[in-house]
Amino acid sequence: MKLTKSYHHRTLGNHPLHPETLMMSYGYDPKFSEGAIKAPLFQTSTFVFENAAAGKSFFELAYGKRQRGPAEDPGMIYSRINNPDLEILEDRLTLWDDAQDGLVFSSGMAAITTSLLSFLRPGDVVMHSEPIYGGSDFLLHKILPQFGIHYVGFPADASGDEIEARMRQAEDMGPVRVIYLETPANPTNKLADIAACATVRDAALARTGTRAVIMVDNTYLGPLWQHPLKHGADIVLYSLTKYVGGHSDVIAGAALGSAELITLVRGFRTILGTMCDPHTGWLLMRSLETLSLRMTRAADNARVVADRLGRHPKVTAVHALDRLDPKSAQGQLFARQCNGAAGSTFSFEIAGGEAEAFRFLDSLTLIKLAVSLGGTESLASHPATMTHSDLSPENLLRTGITPALIRLSIGIENPADLLVDLEQALAKV
Ligand SMILES: *Cc1c(COP(=O)(O)O)cnc(C)c1O
Repeated sequence: MKLTKSYHHRTLGNHPLHPETLMMSYGYDPKFSEGAIKAPLFQTSTFVFENAAAGKSFFELAYGKRQRGPAEDPGMIYSRINNPDLEILEDRLTLWDDAQDGLVFSSGMAAITTSLLSFLRPGDVVMHSEPIYGGSDFLLHKILPQFGIHYVGFPADASGDEIEARMRQAEDMGPVRVIYLETPANPTNKLADIAACATVRDAALARTGTRAVIMVDNTYLGPLWQHPLKHGADIVLYSLTKYVGGHSDVIAGAALGSAELITLVRGFRTILGTMCDPHTGWLLMRSLETLSLRMTRAADNARVVADRLGRHPKVTAVHALDRLDPKSAQGQLFARQCNGAAGSTFSFEIAGGEAEAFRFLDSLTLIKLAVSLGGTESLASHPATMTHSDLSPENLLRTGITPALIRLSIGIENPADLLVDLEQALAKV
């Protein structure tokens, strides 16, 4: 939505307002809805035009037949194209990442798929960090190749020189149109260096004339603690199902970036029909109001849990970002690229293998055995046999997803209760 109206003010006098504050008001004027303090749910498929000329003009904009005027709002047409709940939500989402524009989707995978299809054509190559979310891995390795789109992976914690070397190999296969990163990587918490990828992209542009679009799946630490656009990324992707939704009750996704790139993706979303529905959009607006509170509490809880696990004799390793050696390459990258907090999803390795991991998971009572993450309640899962079971055994081991690896997503419970549950489950192993 064009940001010219009074309800798009982001300052109080000269004071810039913070996203936490703006989540309650930004992009919405109560005067349009009988004074309702909250944006109503616009549960409607279509919108009535005031006259035929207005309908014509709205469609000209929606299909990119003319440029939008400086103070012109795109008119509402049809909820696959636009809807007030989605537009207000999109405006609010852009604030955290300081993005020019954003789009919401029916799932994180819808955001990822639609964004990738907007830029990739047969013969193109995607370079991607490893490991990545199981669904994204399936898309890049099994679905896009059916359309003649190739992939080249590199370890998430690769150095700039290593990424550069992979880029040159990838260029032999075809134009590298997208560099796709997930950082921290699910489920190992390995960090990928966004700025290093931007340097590689710029060098490749000078060498080959092809500018790769850098996309970053920011589901784990964003939108609070990592802002990929500031480090040279072009598009930030979210599974809003996780922290942003935050209550394990909706599936949704988002893509944010420059107005130019997002306009392109918007065209694909309109035709692929991957937008989110108004009710989900409305629920996500409610979630955004408490996002910072929830993420902060969950991260505080996660630190307590990770510290306790780190001292437990039946735990051999804890992969939490705030436990990185600050002098290591990953520790330095964490300091450079993230805003302090380590988030609340991390993994640890239990002494033993799958049998011990399963015994532990089956013994938890408060912490639920479920995939997903970022909700108010704590969850535990076994990546090697669940979210990442589609990876080959070699890929699992190469990317550190061992049979002993357990992923935790810590919620906002009282941390003392979480510790008791973990202790009793570990005692049964
Ligand atoms: C869950 C998740 C996705 C996929 O999101 P959906 O909303 O389930 O489609 C993508 N990336 C990461 C890192 C995720 O955790």
